[in-house]
Amino acid sequence: MSAHAVAAAEFVANGSRAAWHDQALWFIRAKRDNQARSLPEWEHLRELASQVKLHTMSNLAGLLEQFDENARRLGARVHWARDAAEHNAIIHGLLAERSVRRVVKSKSMLTEECGLNPYLERHGIEVTDTDLGEWIVQLRDEAPSHIVLPAIHIKKEEVGALFHDRLGTAAGATDPKYLAEAARQRLRQKFLAAEAGITGVNFAIAETGGFVVCTNEGNADLGTSLPPLHIAAMGIEKIIPRAADLGVFLRLLGRSATGQPITAYSSHFHGPRPGGELHIVLVDNGRSSLLGSEDFRRSLNCIRCGACLNTCPVFRRSGGHSYGVTVAGPIGSIINPARDAAEHGSLPYACSLCGSCSDVCPVKIDLHNQLLTWRREIVARGLLAPAKRTMMRAASFVLRRSWLYRAAGAAARTALRISPRWLVYSRLNLWGRQRELPEPPAKSFRAWYDEHQEGR
Ligand code: SF4
Repeated sequence: MSAHAVAAAEFVANGSRAAWHDQALWFIRAKRDNQARSLPEWEHLRELASQVKLHTMSNLAGLLEQFDENARRLGARVHWARDAAEHNAIIHGLLAERSVRRVVKSKSMLTEECGLNPYLERHGIEVTDTDLGEWIVQLRDEAPSHIVLPAIHIKKEEVGALFHDRLGTAAGATDPKYLAEAARQRLRQKFLAAEAGITGVNFAIAETGGFVVCTNEGNADLGTSLPPLHIAAMGIEKIIPRAADLGVFLRLLGRSATGQPITAYSSHFHGPRPGGELHIVLVDNGRSSLLGSEDFRRSLNCIRCGACLNTCPVFRRSGGHSYGVTVAGPIGSIINPARDAAEHGSLPYACSLCGSCSDVCPVKIDLHNQLLTWRREIVARGLLAPAKRTMMRAASFVLRRSWLYRAAGAAARTALRISPRWLVYSRLNLWGRQRELPEPPAKSFRAWYDEHQEGR
């Protein structure tokens, strides 16, 4: 069994949770569909976004330099990090120079990817995630399970128990309003005590040197308005060329992510606020080598809306943690093997190749095609698990010989009818661990087809 399937076993074993997770994400997917249908120009917007991103990736170096120059002109300081270690060291250096001990951080998948929280905590700095979902998973000492909805795998009863334990709320409380208010009160204290605020970046504009952070809770605004130091961590693919391009992406992002016409807060930062400091850390961490890959470079167009996760039948039923990476789901199954194919080689197989992810992607990334390409690549590099390789070889041998395929089909139909259940669902039947095999038909489709042809 592949690593993803092994990791998914625990989530799948809890049938009610798996069903509820599936429905919760499908509800958001349906909201996204309604929003997309409400805009006659939806497909035009997708095409425009795709073209802007293709242009951006073809001119990435120049646009980044333009952004750097303009951001400095506005008074920001720009830092370049080759990898996660440099990103963490730069941020720690900035905090240590100013003797900062308490930091508030709004949602940033890049800082998760770089392991910033544990790194700073090892250096004695308290980091509080201020997005409610992120804070819940932080209190549980867990990673986010979804890039937009980090706590989607947790039920409100579990949040109630967690808050009772950590915040002293009433035992058994499950009212979301009551729990959110308790979180707000505690987070308010963290905001007031913080000496620095860290944010991610959703879109950075080369033409102006400004950038935009999108949140639904306004936590990025509070986290950057109260403390004097703002550090923004940004993957180099977040750049867009012009301010005029921004509207295209903002219209697509909220609708694709949560089915809202627009994210509640789209905060623009153009240089530091009066009396404050703004530092922008531009991070590569494998993105340049992805840009150099003809097959997978289009994955850099991603705006991290999460729509491909919400629609993916595998993600919905196996949960985000089963991927074992910061960015899970279809897009994660492309970018993570690019970082380390040996470690993440099972992820392109966590896919039914249904193509739903490509259909919903607001920047028209051909996700399922890239996942199929990854499978070929995994085989070519000799990274396919030995058991799977053997099964694929056997299947290939049978499928290339129609007489053998017919004989195997007839044998399987008979064997399935007469074999005892314990034999059919033995350890060898990995597929049957989570599913019931269908009733074997009395005859093959070919025989049925021939009979019906005769009658015509
Ligand atoms: S790949 Fe497309 S659908 Fe998936 S998160 Fe990125 S932009 Fe959204």
